[in-house]
Amino acid sequence: MDFELSETQRLIRDTARKFATEVVAPRARETDRHERFPAEVYRQMAQLGLLGINVPAAYGGAEAGVVAYSLAMMEISAACASTSVGMAVTNMVAELVVAFGTDAQRETFVPRITSGEAVAGAFALSEPHAGSDPGAGYTTAQRKGDRWVINGTKQWITSGAHAGVIIVWARTSNDGNKGLSCFIVEGGTPGLHLGRAEDKMGLRGSNTVPLIFENCEVPEGALLGRLGDGFKLAMVALDGGRVGIASQACGVGRAAVEASVKYVKERRAFGQPIGEFQALRFMLADMHTQQQTAELLTLRAASRKERKLPFTREASMAKLFASEMSNRVCDKAVQLHGGYGYIDEFPVERYLRDARVQTIYEGTSEIQRLVIARELLKSLG
Ligand SMILES: Cc1cc2nc3c(=O)[nH]c(=O)nc-3n(C[C@H](O)[C@H](O)[C@H](O)COP(=O)(O)OP(=O)(O)OC[C@H]3O[C@@H](n4cnc5c(N)ncnc54)[C@H](O)[C@@H]3O)c2cc1C
Repeated sequence: MDFELSETQRLIRDTARKFATEVVAPRARETDRHERFPAEVYRQMAQLGLLGINVPAAYGGAEAGVVAYSLAMMEISAACASTSVGMAVTNMVAELVVAFGTDAQRETFVPRITSGEAVAGAFALSEPHAGSDPGAGYTTAQRKGDRWVINGTKQWITSGAHAGVIIVWARTSNDGNKGLSCFIVEGGTPGLHLGRAEDKMGLRGSNTVPLIFENCEVPEGALLGRLGDGFKLAMVALDGGRVGIASQACGVGRAAVEASVKYVKERRAFGQPIGEFQALRFMLADMHTQQQTAELLTLRAASRKERKLPFTREASMAKLFASEMSNRVCDKAVQLHGGYGYIDEFPVERYLRDARVQTIYEGTSEIQRLVIARELLKSLG
């Protein structure tokens, strides 16, 4: 087992770290406070190859692999999770089109995503009444000559109001999960309407919006993958997506640890820096150990995906542990800051608000446990 990074992985991580420190972090507070969607930041990220890290160079990607993607996600997330969630979805959409698209779809849509022309990619699976159970969605796509007509409402769509390329799941028959298919819809297509953007607890700079499809017509060639393969595509995409969100959680957790270390050295009580109190040192030791454990789990899942080994269980374990870690660690970071942890003068209250959704999206912790247990029972059966 080799824990050393390759030259490419180090290059991507260092590029992301520099960009995160110089460009993303300085505007993170404003992005959150004023709910500023970071469109300009995404354009710059595209120039650095960060919107298609695991995408072939032929389509404008960095072709640097999944571990590099995970490392870059950690860096951007440590600076601003509102920014990194859109980065995660955009990378996921580009990878999905590469994996399942026709040559024409790859050539048309992937360079638009990796170059930043599309601003962001979006992934429209959830519906108002169907999140954990996406097979229960009501959105339909019906054939009309050589076109598909989409009707229905998608809920919680990250970057939905800005994305140039949107992957939409819709029912093409009543055959349960086998009746779901997947379509590439361009932002601004007639019949695609935006609902009211959600007023969220955290990730306030990320845009989360319902997408309403009213007789939205797309060409025959918009079908991604085979008819009826939508559920399979969703599961494949979510496995990879979970590596992305686990990486996000690692990044936010690391930022919380670093902010806490800095604070306990500066803040004094009872005549000494609060970092001298054993109670706080033990807290920091646990935070750091848990955060590092999450990184190991996450990079293992990323490495398995990169080596084309099965990684469903590993991705769910990483996502479960990392997201619960970031919630615990950010909560402790607020505690370590005392009253100052509760106001926006310090970033830890933002980290805690941003971390909260990580146990919910890309599959809740309960769904991750179902997946892990199912895979465990299968492997020991
Ligand atoms: C900020 C944000 C961004 C998002 N971005 C996107 C996006 O870009 N694209 C997209 O498609 N979706 C997105 N989502 C949706 C997200 O993936 C869902 O919210 C999530 O999957 C949970 O679905 P739900 O909200 O319908 O909750 P429900 O499925 O209704 O779950 C409610 C509760 O029931 C539990 N539960 C459900 N089923 C089971 C079970 N079988 N066993 C045990 N417990 C169970 C859940 O764990 C949860 O605690 C986003 C959500 C948020 C909040």
